[in-house]
Amino acid sequence: MYRIGQGFDIHQLVEERDLILGGVNIEHNKGLLGHSDADVLCHAIIDALLGALALGDIGLHFPDNDPKYYGCDSTQLLKEVLYLIIKGGYKINNIDCTIKAQTPKLQPFLIEIRSNLSRILNINLNQISIKAKTMETLGPIGESKAIAVDAIVLLEEIEG
Ligand code: ZN
Repeated sequence: MYRIGQGFDIHQLVEERDLILGGVNIEHNKGLLGHSDADVLCHAIIDALLGALALGDIGLHFPDNDPKYYGCDSTQLLKEVLYLIIKGGYKINNIDCTIKAQTPKLQPFLIEIRSNLSRILNINLNQISIKAKTMETLGPIGESKAIAVDAIVLLEEIEG
């Protein structure tokens, strides 16, 4: 028994914020704006995981008007969602993500991001794929005003 889930997220890229993707702090002159640490990659993966089991979305589980989540580490939210997946009788088969960012160039960071997420989610490196694309300077992402992520996950029922 398999379940598939899809997630999307977008955050504004602004000055005087840290850029955190998949729990990795990336050296850049701008960062993502948000109530939490604005880790757009973690948020898209969370929505894909929740979507796979029809458990709603990130806003339902972690409301952005709740002061508890102000500046919070999104990898902690990801761990909480993983617990829900396991409690629901499923494990992660694989995850595939596309980060859309004009700047910075993310290629040099992808292996570190993948290994960090594989550790957090307790899966192998070959179960988490992360690709980075620019928007060829088109639109708000292409003008470096935002970073967006598409994520898709496949869950597999835990036997027994
Ligand atoms: Zn978000």
